[in-house]
Amino acid sequence: MNSNEVAELLKFDAEHVWHPYTSAVSPLPCFFAESAKGVYIYLAGGKKIIDGMSSWWAAIHGYNHPRLNNALIQQHKKMSHVMFGGLTHEPAVKLAQKLLNITPPDIQHVFFCDSGSVAVEAAMKMALQYFHAIKKNNKCKFATVRSGYHGDTWNAMSVCDPVAGMHSVFAGSLPKQFFADKPKIRFGEMWNEKDINSVENIIVKHHNEIAAFIIEPIVQGAGGMYFYHPEFLKRLRQLCTRHDILLIADEIATGFGRSGVMFACEHAAITPDIMCVGKALTGGYMTLAATLTTANVAETISSANPYSFMHGPTFMGNPLACAVACASLDLITENPTLEKISEIETQLKTELQEARNINSVKDVRVLGAIGVIEVKENVDLKKIQPLFVENGIWLRPFGKLIYTMPPYIITKEQLHTLVKNMIKTIQQINE
Ligand code: PMP
Repeated sequence: MNSNEVAELLKFDAEHVWHPYTSAVSPLPCFFAESAKGVYIYLAGGKKIIDGMSSWWAAIHGYNHPRLNNALIQQHKKMSHVMFGGLTHEPAVKLAQKLLNITPPDIQHVFFCDSGSVAVEAAMKMALQYFHAIKKNNKCKFATVRSGYHGDTWNAMSVCDPVAGMHSVFAGSLPKQFFADKPKIRFGEMWNEKDINSVENIIVKHHNEIAAFIIEPIVQGAGGMYFYHPEFLKRLRQLCTRHDILLIADEIATGFGRSGVMFACEHAAITPDIMCVGKALTGGYMTLAATLTTANVAETISSANPYSFMHGPTFMGNPLACAVACASLDLITENPTLEKISEIETQLKTELQEARNINSVKDVRVLGAIGVIEVKENVDLKKIQPLFVENGIWLRPFGKLIYTMPPYIITKEQLHTLVKNMIKTIQQINE
């Protein structure tokens, strides 16, 4: 594509195309991606940049992967889509089998959804239908912790952090939920029982109204890129069980190895009643998510009027998405994925340390294949993003957080370049 054509498209984009969380009239400039392969995104004009974001936790095997490409091509020759009502197909059944093979044994039922936010909506509806089935209709509220993020649809928004959660403009119209303090004890610190007090107070006081407690296990993502103590999750599981509250684990960001274990709940050795997965499910190829639950929840929902789970999107179980997700899960299980993530973790822990010497840096933290540099002041995206690109890397900071979650296929040398240029850019911004 020549530079005039690119300029025209960019102009139209700026004038008419809405991007995530962006003004329609004065958007920040976008970079023009022409193609992507491995860990590289190729921009118009020939610049190649190392992707440090995995396209928001999703592209774990890198771009244009031959196995994932082939899965799509083979499937589209058979059929790209058929409705899931009354019909089923190999990619959906195989994907459900593969998911149940890597999730806890009590998890037995899979509901396919279109996106992470929809998976959260489905999880919340499952919880409500569960208590409807056992005639505890007063249990129709949700509880969560502050600084969480669960998506942009209505009920998902209601359990995002009410202040930092980007949705304060809707606050007046959203259902009111219960918010406990965010976990204060970090991953790797000494556990202190006091950390669960706020959750316990809410659960003890309001368990008659609460259907489910929803939480991002171990890693609070969009709410702060923060890693908390696994004991918090263990205590929460115990409290939910004791007070007849379902536990929903939102593994949409953490699932498939990102935090160093296959699912972040494994850090605390707990099984949720309902879990949501998405993002990396298709290796970042297309949107697909799933809400999984136990036999107890699924059978209870199905035991009382309306005897069915009341959700069924048009593109449910899309064969193309399921086929590519099957190939992605095969890559995860055939390769020593968790070992590779552990190597990335070690390298991030070593190489990100240098950032601590920069004045503007407040904290550096790493868990699994997630590396975070927290700075003291909000980052000016307009200034920093072009500098990242100039330095050959792709990062998308928000607030005070400059972070990376690279594709798992990144080599030692590529990761070294990514971290080196991440730190260099922060230094340049400081000058
Ligand atoms: N839950 C978590 C923990 C997420 O990180 C996200 C996406 N950032 C979502 C839910 C929503 O997923 P989606 O953007 O696919 O709707």
